[in-house]
Amino acid sequence: MNPHKLPSIGYDVIFDDTLTELHRFIQQHTYSKILILTDRNACIHCLPVLQEAMPWFDGYDVIEVDPGEENKNIDFCVGIWKMMLDFGADRQSLLINLGGGVITDMGGFTASTFKRGIDFVQVPTTLLSQVDASVGGKTGVDMDHVKNIIGTFAQPKAVFIASTFLRTLDQRQLVSGFAEIIKHGLIADRSFYEAIKGLDATAISLEHIRHSVAIKNNVVTQDPLEKGLRKILNFGHTIGHALEGHSLASDRNPLLHGEAIAAGMICEAYLAHRLNGLSEDALNDIIQTFRRHFPDYSYDREIYEALLVLMKNDKKNAGHRIGFSLLSTIGQCDIDVFVEEDVIVESLDFYRNLIGSGR
Ligand code: NAD
Repeated sequence: MNPHKLPSIGYDVIFDDTLTELHRFIQQHTYSKILILTDRNACIHCLPVLQEAMPWFDGYDVIEVDPGEENKNIDFCVGIWKMMLDFGADRQSLLINLGGGVITDMGGFTASTFKRGIDFVQVPTTLLSQVDASVGGKTGVDMDHVKNIIGTFAQPKAVFIASTFLRTLDQRQLVSGFAEIIKHGLIADRSFYEAIKGLDATAISLEHIRHSVAIKNNVVTQDPLEKGLRKILNFGHTIGHALEGHSLASDRNPLLHGEAIAAGMICEAYLAHRLNGLSEDALNDIIQTFRRHFPDYSYDREIYEALLVLMKNDKKNAGHRIGFSLLSTIGQCDIDVFVEEDVIVESLDFYRNLIGSGR
């Protein structure tokens, strides 16, 4: 079967379980040096898949970092840049980012800034990075628990998606990726949302991944630099990123990205109902979907202040106003809805009451 290619912003997203196209890409180019950036888990589980698919491929160097969101920061980038220098990388080098969203975000950032930018390709290995993080050219790292606050828009040379990598992914990580798939249906494709909302995350197929990427790709190709339309992809992320950042700083077992934005999407669906015409039926449907797939996250009112500080640092704000992308109905999302702090607090209370910790 021919691999499916989706044209994006000057590159293709290629769906190919055999990785033949990655093989072809490397053969067609004459890079002076090839580096693979990966983390410990992807190194154990995914590098062998790559090596098996391309047994002739050698002579590359591997930069391995510790896994986890807590390592997506500038200190780790400095380590990566130093390793690139040690390995003799120059402007004609290629960086292959092999891993989840932490690796594709941080690898894209380090490649786009090293010697003013070298080529990189994304080989995402988690469901979340396949359906979302590896596509669209947003790269970056966190700082002081504010998500993705340092970064660039930089397009890869190609993205290679192989569902074979997902075989070794644990259930919690798989479900985390499902959150972004559900989001894509909610913001832009009601029938896709209806088709997937009741599925088990293990039932997600390459076709679902392709459809989810196609939704995101359709948005980012129209608005690569997030001047307008692209902001719809941030539904759930204003509150979700604050919860994720706070959880990283304070929880022993922090929320995963998808878990945080699942809670964020419930809060922001409440805001959409309160302020943007989302019907009560739609709100209840969204709540039911996320609570079916994701564990409840309990938090105290004492953290609201910290959450609001994190939200105020969000990139979507204008001045001191906190900006949201809110649904008007399932399948449609409005951008630049600015919400007063007391209403945001209401939405956080709404979630707490829903899960029974708001008494
Ligand atoms: P992750 O990169 O931390 O990967 C999750 C875990 O799975 C890690 O421990 C990793 O080592 C492990 N892993 C990776 N592939 C594996 C495999 N095939 N088998 C077994 N283990 C494997 O997290 P993620 O959920 O992939 O990505 C989350 C990140 O993506 C966040 O930092 C988020 O901000 C970012 N993101 C970016 C964009 C974007 O547009 N740039 C969009 C959405 C999310």
